[in-house]
Amino acid sequence: MDLSIVIPLFNEEDSLPELEAWIRRVMEEEGFSYEIIMVDDGSKDGSWRVIEQLAEQNPNLQGIKFQRNYGKSAALNTGFQAARGRVVATMDADLQDSPEELPGLYRMIAEQGYDMVSGWKKKRKDPLFSKNIPSKFYNWTARRMTGIRLHDFNCGLKAYKREVVHSIEVYGEMHRYIPVLAKWAGFHRIGEKTVVHQERKYGTTKFGMERFIRGPLDLMSVIFISRFGKRPMHFFGALGSLIFILGFFAAGYIGINKLYRLHQKLPTVLVTDNPYFFISLTCMIIGTLLFVTGFLAELVSRNAPDRSHYLIEKRTEALGDEGILPGRGTRTGME
Ligand code: UDP
Ligand code: MG
Repeated sequence: MDLSIVIPLFNEEDSLPELEAWIRRVMEEEGFSYEIIMVDDGSKDGSWRVIEQLAEQNPNLQGIKFQRNYGKSAALNTGFQAARGRVVATMDADLQDSPEELPGLYRMIAEQGYDMVSGWKKKRKDPLFSKNIPSKFYNWTARRMTGIRLHDFNCGLKAYKREVVHSIEVYGEMHRYIPVLAKWAGFHRIGEKTVVHQERKYGTTKFGMERFIRGPLDLMSVIFISRFGKRPMHFFGALGSLIFILGFFAAGYIGINKLYRLHQKLPTVLVTDNPYFFISLTCMIIGTLLFVTGFLAELVSRNAPDRSHYLIEKRTEALGDEGILPGRGTRTGME
């Protein structure tokens, strides 16, 4: 199969019939073999009924419905697991992304050798102040922090090699950072393609103001996990030790200085009247806390289910049954 189209949706009943017809038309024009995977993320409206009807008419369409609303990331992840096409594309269900872009994205993966291609809504048809300007800032930060040169990380329209979506796990709110997840998994050929964007025709946006808080926090987790997720002690341990040592020597100096002055019969103050003493003490306490945090984090990461999950890209051909090339070995295996 050429193309799997994964569509996460939440309360989009009005858009679905048009979307399905449009995708079907484009796919038939291009002569692609394809599947549409609609993942209903616990819609409260009639979306699922619509999906069932569409699935009856179009054998290339399958629907999956969640028991409740888990979020776009969960919907994408589930769709990815079900996808069987050589190339896997994702798009929003609200008709803001155009199916006409699918063949172009497909070719960039299948013919130009990209691992993943992200859409770029260059002329974005969303409210200026609540979406466009914040999103420019956010994308700039994400570019700087991750080193991935994309203008539109969170574009719903993207395409991947199948291996990519089967190697990454999209959870929490990580759908904003799939390019980062792909890069971690070792897929470096990440491309970008400008795509047209329409205004929302039916329904309303599902992402309100809370994304201003969640987006940046998730970006910080992604960056931190990518740098130190597998070796937390290198961050917490190093920082903790440094601060502790600083406090320790400062306290030591205060003590020795006091003894020296007593011995020389110079005027002294009580150690506890010296503000630097409390600063040193605090440093030692914070240093210890950081160190212990690092140790606990290390124990947690040892228990991570993917701690020894390595992606194998290629192997050489297996040798003969006994591990000896035929004709060269001493045993034939038939004795
Ligand atoms: N969506 C989803 N689960 C959610 C929220 C959104 O599957 O909890 C889907 C939604 O139905 C749409 C896509 O994610 O297909 C993008 O959402 P939306 O258009 O509301 O985002 P915007 O374009 O406003 O950023
Ligand atoms: Mg939208």
